[in-house]
Amino acid sequence: MGRRGVHCIVRPGRAVSLPVPNRPSGYSSRKEPRLSDPNCLFCRIVRGEIPATIVYQDDQLVAFRDINPQAPTHILIIPHEHVATLNELVPSQGKLMGHMHLLAQALARAEGIAESGWRVVINCGADAGQSVFHVHMHVLGGRSFGWPPG
Ligand code: AMP
Repeated sequence: MGRRGVHCIVRPGRAVSLPVPNRPSGYSSRKEPRLSDPNCLFCRIVRGEIPATIVYQDDQLVAFRDINPQAPTHILIIPHEHVATLNELVPSQGKLMGHMHLLAQALARAEGIAESGWRVVINCGADAGQSVFHVHMHVLGGRSFGWPPG
């Protein structure tokens, strides 16, 4: 049990070595991420100022149930550090994004949806419908999804 009685259903993954892709054009050149935004809703969840149904946390990530679930399983994974959108991601955060995917995999297993199928969504910007400007991964499953997305 961790902070606020949080039950960790998966442990932080072991170190993994991910292939480093060639730097694509359009990579952000910003070097230092901002650590926390006092007015950001998800930063406030990280700091424990706003309640959430947390299913996992470690020193880098928090995962909690979406307040308005769109599927039987709908979990949000967020980094502690404030990154507004995928557009602001910097190369030093690549490992963090890998960690988010490995946690999504572990959560899908824990939720019993790994075999039936599940979906990861990261909305970026207005056209994608992003409403909270702190990067987050939706982990959705427990029903069939359509394609293309609406
Ligand atoms: P997006 O539209 O991709 O930015 O997703 C934001 C998500 O955050 C939505 O699915 C909301 O339902 C969810 N959300 C907003 N506030 C909260 C909250 N306090 N606790 C849990 N989920 C939230």
